[in-house]
Amino acid sequence: MSERPVYYFDNNATTRVAPEVVEAMLPFLQEFWGNPSSAYRFGAQVAKHVESARARVAELIHADPREVVFTSCGTESNNAAIHSALVHNPAKRHVVTTAVEHSANVNFCEYLQKRGFEVTFLPVEPDGSLDIHLLEQSIRPDTAIVSVMLANNETGVLFPIEEISAICRSKGVLCHTDAVQTPGKMKLDVKSLGVDFLSLSAHKLHAPKGIGMLYVKRRTKFQPYVIGGHQENGRRGGTENVANIVGFGRAAELAMNSVSDENTRVRGLRDRLENTILSTIPNTLRNGARDERLPNTTNVCFEFVEAEAILLKLDLLGICASSGSACTTGSLDPSHVLSAMGLTPMRARGSVRFSLGIYNTSEDVDFLLRHMAKIVGDLRAISPLSPEHPDNDKYDIEAARAKHEADLAQALGEKQR
Ligand SMILES: *Cc1c(COP(=O)(O)O)cnc(C)c1O
Repeated sequence: MSERPVYYFDNNATTRVAPEVVEAMLPFLQEFWGNPSSAYRFGAQVAKHVESARARVAELIHADPREVVFTSCGTESNNAAIHSALVHNPAKRHVVTTAVEHSANVNFCEYLQKRGFEVTFLPVEPDGSLDIHLLEQSIRPDTAIVSVMLANNETGVLFPIEEISAICRSKGVLCHTDAVQTPGKMKLDVKSLGVDFLSLSAHKLHAPKGIGMLYVKRRTKFQPYVIGGHQENGRRGGTENVANIVGFGRAAELAMNSVSDENTRVRGLRDRLENTILSTIPNTLRNGARDERLPNTTNVCFEFVEAEAILLKLDLLGICASSGSACTTGSLDPSHVLSAMGLTPMRARGSVRFSLGIYNTSEDVDFLLRHMAKIVGDLRAISPLSPEHPDNDKYDIEAARAKHEADLAQALGEKQR
């Protein structure tokens, strides 16, 4: 692999595994590789490390360890929560969620629709916020579960889960939140959040990929999604991913301690990055609310250029950022999140997400800012839609933009048909 430095601004896609986490995990790959369900000591001794990791992950969200079910990822946790609600109440066949959830939810809910379930995808406001009254009105007698994310992975916008769970309780409906983006960035307390289910994924908090957890509130009925052995107290079959679970436990401990760094130093870096871009590069816009937002995320629209072109040029410099989420990269479709916020296809396709983390330094931000204006300027100089194009006095630029929007909208419409 290359020795070149990476300037990593994609912490909402995944995070570097913390050295402390690697260190905690190694003994469980090298020496203590027994099966925690085995009766002999070589296996059984491992079980107590799984349990102490469970206690740490529980502490991160102020839950009881018995409320923590380890899964393979955030996607599985989300699927499992919704699946459980539907299987447990066969008469209730309606799910309420939002149009801006992670594809782990959006695509699962679309699958459910094909299987005859009904799903309401709540729209969002232009700043990415949710109309709580609309949410309340969308709950029906046959609604099994409301699943709304705590923080959006593309914009960082926060949803008021306390209020949402209170509405759910008053209507006797289960409530799930995808909190994958939040550990280390905000304090988490399942008691005050008031939800029945909450999902986390370890690779978003400096632990390895392939391990997640679902919080299942005590006395909330749960139907397993992965069915097999009696692991996880009968709530999730499959031999425990011991090393990853131990790593998750250590990462949970670290995340509790990084909340203040994220909210002071990292927030300061994010704000400097965002404010400098918005104030020094013309025709740029922030996507999403300014205040009700994670401290590490900024999503910026660079008008008249393609985000993909910006990302390619950044990549040549070793800078990692993204458009939309990692899970939708590769498709030319504009982000479903930005589209739901009402951005035109052209603006959505000109938007870049920078997500910072505890390993970012002020020098990283300087490096990015040093190159950003030139990259955007160079691309605009060859974009016929841009006021910076040298020949733009020779044609009607407004008409060119309108035609481009219409072409994009038509191409999207044809794809959907
Ligand atoms: C990354 C992410 C997921 C998916 O987690 P995986 O462990 O990669 O399956 C779900 N929801 C949100 C908000 C995410 O950012």
